[in-house]
Amino acid sequence: MSNHKVIIIGGGPAGYTAALYTARARLEPFCLEGLQYGGQLMTTTEVENFPGFPEGIDGPALMDRMRQQAERFGAQYRSRDVTRVAFSSDPGEPHTVWVDEDESYTAPVVIVATGARPRKLGLESEERLWAKGVSSCATCDGAFFRDKVVAVVGGGDSAMEEALFLTRFARKVYIIHRRDELRASRIMQERALANEKIELLWSYVVEEILGEDHVTGLRLRSTKDGSERLLEVDGFFLGIGHLPNTDIFRGQLRMDDEGYLVPEGATAMDRPGVFACGDCVDKRYRQAITAAGMGCMAAIDAERYLEERGL
Ligand code: NAP
Repeated sequence: MSNHKVIIIGGGPAGYTAALYTARARLEPFCLEGLQYGGQLMTTTEVENFPGFPEGIDGPALMDRMRQQAERFGAQYRSRDVTRVAFSSDPGEPHTVWVDEDESYTAPVVIVATGARPRKLGLESEERLWAKGVSSCATCDGAFFRDKVVAVVGGGDSAMEEALFLTRFARKVYIIHRRDELRASRIMQERALANEKIELLWSYVVEEILGEDHVTGLRLRSTKDGSERLLEVDGFFLGIGHLPNTDIFRGQLRMDDEGYLVPEGATAMDRPGVFACGDCVDKRYRQAITAAGMGCMAAIDAERYLEERGL
């Protein structure tokens, strides 16, 4: 067991920004950044909406820079997943965080920045054909579909982004959306609709992904008239939103029905010295810049908490 002043769980924009601020406050943060550190931007290509990068910046490059910036002021990292936490209810008692069974860390302050993961449809065929043509990451897997036909499900910005990225490789990209109106921002809609490789299939849900050992097609059902349609595709990408990574906090921190953490103040949770920030809290904005902003807020809240208690 090793003791710290501040433990940060999560290595995305929220976690690294919290690390930067707490490091500059000389709190020597210890960041359990996860096995696949860097968060969701590691699976993004170009980030065009993070202020300060007028030409855009590669997602992984942006995360590397954030990580290095906090490291420069003394943040320490361990690239492991947290398996268990014991948050105390007593402000005097430290919180304990485990990676594996026998490796634990304690601190009076824990900043939770565990982010969110892609939502799945929940089909048996989705699991069976996962990584055999089914993917949630066009950036990771798009290149496997050169000159092939692929489909993306969803009507939000993620689906548009996945589809647009896939047009670099695939010869045809279907977007399957359950309604007749997109949720995506205007600029992303315009880009997707203007791309001649993209065809929108309005008002369909995916009922089954077809194929034995790799994806060969989809069985769709119309949400307008219930009719069935078979679509031949080589790949299928999920773009239907996200779920918060908060399972390990269940029963210890307040969360809503979907599992998003619910702070009492701006970032303070219902255990003394526990603060939460980023996509594990925020289901409304979910941007790298808002996650980073919340990471800063959590760090300042944590700093004041420690200062007020002379810790
Ligand atoms: P989202 O905005 O919540 O959109 C999810 C989409 O998936 C919706 O169109 C939804 O349909 C559909 N959907 C959800 N569950 C489904 C199911 N079981 N079956 C079929 N369809 C389903 O999620 P997101 O696209 O991941 O975006 C999240 C946030 O990140 C947004 O604020 C977005 O602007 C932002 N973002 C921005 C960028 C960018 O600017 N480049 C890129 C990605 C994400 P309904 O519309 O019918 O609900």
